[in-house]
Amino acid sequence: MRVTIFGTGYVGLVTGTCLAEVGHDVVCVDVDQAKIDGLNHGVIPIYEPGLEPMVKANHAEGRLHFTTDAADGIRHGDIVFIAVGTPPDEDGSADLKYVLAVAKTIGAHVDKPTVVVDKSTVPVGTADKVRTTIADALKARGADVAFDVVSNPEFLKEGAAVEDCMRPDRIVIGSDSQVAIEKLKRLYAPFNRNHERIVTMDVRSAELTKYAANAMLATKISFMNEISCIAEQVGADIEHVRQGIGSDPRIGWHFIYPGAGYGGSCFPKDVQALARIAQQNGCEPRLLDAVEAVNHAQKGHLFELVQRHYDKGEDEGVRGKAFAVWGLAFKPNTDDMREASSRRLLAQLWEAGATVRAYDPEAMEEARRIFGERVDLVFCESAQDAVQGCDALVVVTEWKQFRSPDFAKLATALHDRVVFDGRNLYEPAEVEAAGLAYYGIGRGRSVRRPA
Ligand code: NAD
Repeated sequence: MRVTIFGTGYVGLVTGTCLAEVGHDVVCVDVDQAKIDGLNHGVIPIYEPGLEPMVKANHAEGRLHFTTDAADGIRHGDIVFIAVGTPPDEDGSADLKYVLAVAKTIGAHVDKPTVVVDKSTVPVGTADKVRTTIADALKARGADVAFDVVSNPEFLKEGAAVEDCMRPDRIVIGSDSQVAIEKLKRLYAPFNRNHERIVTMDVRSAELTKYAANAMLATKISFMNEISCIAEQVGADIEHVRQGIGSDPRIGWHFIYPGAGYGGSCFPKDVQALARIAQQNGCEPRLLDAVEAVNHAQKGHLFELVQRHYDKGEDEGVRGKAFAVWGLAFKPNTDDMREASSRRLLAQLWEAGATVRAYDPEAMEEARRIFGERVDLVFCESAQDAVQGCDALVVVTEWKQFRSPDFAKLATALHDRVVFDGRNLYEPAEVEAAGLAYYGIGRGRSVRRPA
């Protein structure tokens, strides 16, 4: 089938590539000329495991095209996806300017019956706005072309996006048009062979499903982070508590890890946007506001542990200290640093007069773009390199390669012999046995400065 995708970011590029991989003829459109030029020359703008070879192969085989020419793109596709960003507006609601700009462009150029698919995460009622915008643009040029607008939210996880796209848990299709639903079923048939993954529903339910999914996951994380604060204060170990509750199938093992707070391009903005949707529709988002508030506080917790260790009042104990920071991306297997916990930590360390030697396996380029050159930040070649000459280590992202460091070597390298473990990667007793002080998240011994 002939498919066009507007927006060549994490969602658009992965979706387009996976659709091409199963044989569809895909055109990816983006307004970012440099990104499109790069893709046409084999430069992949993001890091996702498995993505690069797939993009290159499908591009070389002529099933995956990249362009900035929107009109050409619209003429190509029988199905046109909107996968552009929906960043937060000033009040936290989703800013639809990019989505509606694409809708206007579709209305300006569409010349044959087309199914328009909202894949961006958008507030309930957006499909109606997209439909009106396209209809107005058609009217303005005196054209009469049939089109449907379908909601098909994306559930891929950054870091496992290709895998998720090739083997989705579910494919949600929201539409009141049987013709459009059948077209999307044909499009997704190659991903749906093993068992039925397609869930069809009305448009508004599909739009809300995406927010409900992300808000539920964020709620689990904030819940565990709140319990971890209690654990810390009462002298319990959250890791024991986690194991104690995860074995209950009604609770489950997923998303009950305490940590340095959730980040990324989805949870923070989607929880806020859903809270605004609730308010705008007369519902008080008590739980959603609390989820957001807990996460905001949690992102500052690593620095609180740092202050607790060095406490001499007014940050004086932190001033002049050098911190090795392992992990900058908001989670492993991605270079995405949007809303990453590392950003808050680094800002707090710099504010307190500390310096940072940072290492991330994939996000160094993105970090350079975000922070630029500064005297209090050194980008390092490896985890080992980062600890050289430092006083303390802070682990912010749980990359696999950080899981089993040589603690004896760390104890020699770190002047103040202290590890702040923002993801509870280590066994406290093992770290302490090497002569290091250990602070984790929600582990009772972090309350007081270890002897
Ligand atoms: P992104 O910021 O990585 O990419 C968006 C792309 O859209 C950019 O390349 C931008 O240049 C392009 N763009 C903007 N205006 C355009 C226009 N008029 N025409 C063509 N291209 C245009 O965004 P993303 O992370 O891929 O997210 C896209 C949407 O999918 C968002 O609504 C997001 O909430 C949702 N989503 C994201 C994820 C994720 O893990 N990143 C997962 C599920 C859903």
